[in-house]
Amino acid sequence: TSFAHFSFDEQLMNQIRKSEYTQPTPIQCQGVPIALSGRDMIGIAKTGSGKTAAFIWPMLVHIMDQKELEQGEGPIAVIVCPTRELCQQIHAECKRFGKVYGLRSVAVYGGGSMWEQAKALQDGAEIVVCTPGRLIDHVKKKATSLQRVTYLVFDEADRMFDMGFEYQVRSIASHVRPDRQTLLFSATFRKKIEKLARDILIDPIRVVQ
Ligand code: AMP
Repeated sequence: TSFAHFSFDEQLMNQIRKSEYTQPTPIQCQGVPIALSGRDMIGIAKTGSGKTAAFIWPMLVHIMDQKELEQGEGPIAVIVCPTRELCQQIHAECKRFGKVYGLRSVAVYGGGSMWEQAKALQDGAEIVVCTPGRLIDHVKKKATSLQRVTYLVFDEADRMFDMGFEYQVRSIASHVRPDRQTLLFSATFRKKIEKLARDILIDPIRVVQ
C-alpha cells in the first residue's frame, strides 16, 4: 500500500508529503481504509506504530463530510486519551493536518487551566482532544456539548483503565449519540478491554499492528 491508495484529496496528500513519510505504516495500511469506510475499529497498536495518523486522517475526511450535512455547535470528533502529554501530542498532529481544511482543535486535560480551556471550547473547534475526567467536567459546566460528535476515539484504552478511568470512559461513550463511529486503540487486548469493546463498539473490525 502507498499513500495514493487511500484516495485522500490533494490538500491532505500535500501535507503528508511535507511530513516526509515515505510509506504508510502497517497500522495505517490496515486501519485507514476501515476507518474511512465508517466501520467501528479496534486497533491493537503501540506508540511508535503510527496509530495517531491512522485515526486522524480518516477523522478529517469524516469531519469535512459531516460539516456539509449538519450545522451546529460543539466538536464533531472527540479523541480521549490518558495523559496530558499524549493529549498535547495528538492535538499537535490534529493541528498539523487539520489546518489544510481550516479545522480547529482544542486540547483539554487535567492540570491545565479550566478557564482557558473553557474559553477555547467556546470559541469553537471541530476536534477536541481530551483526558476523560476533564472532558466530563467541561460538559457538566456546559463549556461544550457532545451532541454533534459522530467520530469518537479512545486511545491507549488499557492505560486509561490502569489509571482508573474506566467509569469516565464509559460515561463519555454513553453521552455520545449512538449513530457515531467509534475507534478503540489499546496496546494490549485484555479481558476488560474486550468487554469495553463489546459494550461501546458496533460490529468492530479488529486490526493488529
Ligand atoms: P504514533 O505511533 O502515532 O505515536 O507515531 C509515532 C511517530 O511516527 C510520530 O512521530 C509520527 O509523526 C510518525 N509517523 C506517523 N506515520 C508515519 C509514517 N507513515 N512514516 C513515518 N513516520 C510516521
